[in-house]
Amino acid sequence: MKLTDLSVIRSLLGEEGTSFKKKYGQNFLTNESVVERIAASALPDVPDPEEKLGILEIGPGIGVLTQKLSAVAYKVTAVEIDTTLLPILEKTLADCPNVHVVNNDIMKVDLPALIAEEFTDCTRLAVCANLPYYITTPILMALLESKLPFSSITVMVQKEVAERLCAPAGSDAYGAITAVLTYYGVPRRLFTVSAGNFVPAPKVDSAVVQIKLHKAPPVEVESEAKLFAVIKAAFGQRRKTLQNALSSLPGVSKEQIASAIAEAGFAPTVRGEALDLAAFAKIANLL
Ligand code: SAM
Repeated sequence: MKLTDLSVIRSLLGEEGTSFKKKYGQNFLTNESVVERIAASALPDVPDPEEKLGILEIGPGIGVLTQKLSAVAYKVTAVEIDTTLLPILEKTLADCPNVHVVNNDIMKVDLPALIAEEFTDCTRLAVCANLPYYITTPILMALLESKLPFSSITVMVQKEVAERLCAPAGSDAYGAITAVLTYYGVPRRLFTVSAGNFVPAPKVDSAVVQIKLHKAPPVEVESEAKLFAVIKAAFGQRRKTLQNALSSLPGVSKEQIASAIAEAGFAPTVRGEALDLAAFAKIANLL
């Protein structure tokens, strides 16, 4: 059964009396080589045959990527919100004994408990998913903030989101999420996937992004909460200078802000979008 085949997808859904659900961001992949490429990207650059790789997939759909992940990983746990897809997954993953499907909303799952339960005997963890676009950022933030020991997160997202996630400091696409992301890992855009490779076809193209997670943060900060508050404030009013934008932070005076910016080596007119993570960390520590 070729799960990228349009008639197979339609008949699997039809047999269960279900169809594509927009509210769950269901755009299923229809290109076998794209699916293979995503699954291969989830593997470490230098695969170790001794390693037991556990992969967390979010939103298996009808199991097209899950099947490929099952072939390359030691264990796959796939969290799917849509209950109507479960009988389909039972059929399509019948020959994948190393896959466990969990019927839940990834935003409601207790991630540390799930990981501890599912991947006890795994020596390496990774995330791989064609994400539902309506909650891309919340899912990514939940994965990163969990600080679980994933070595990489490989996800398909909208092309514009991919550009933002991987944007260099100072570029138009650079935003708060980009700066925050670099605290947790190194993002890299792997390849573009045009809208025609999905059913139903989304309105925009997509891209696969990989975040290689740091073992330890690349900057030292007194308070992570303060660092993230500074980044958020800096981009909250993008058109303003950093000095003005940071005045929205509670408990810091204009003078403290001005002197922190100067001490960090920036002109009073600098804008937040020009600063990389190291600069934000310096300013957060000075405030
Ligand atoms: N992996 C399949 C593929 O590549 O063809 C489907 C990807 S589709 C873009 C997104 C999948 O995420 C759907 O199966 C959808 O039901 C599921 N999903 C949506 N919201 C979810 C959530 N909050 N938790 C878990 N799964 C979710």
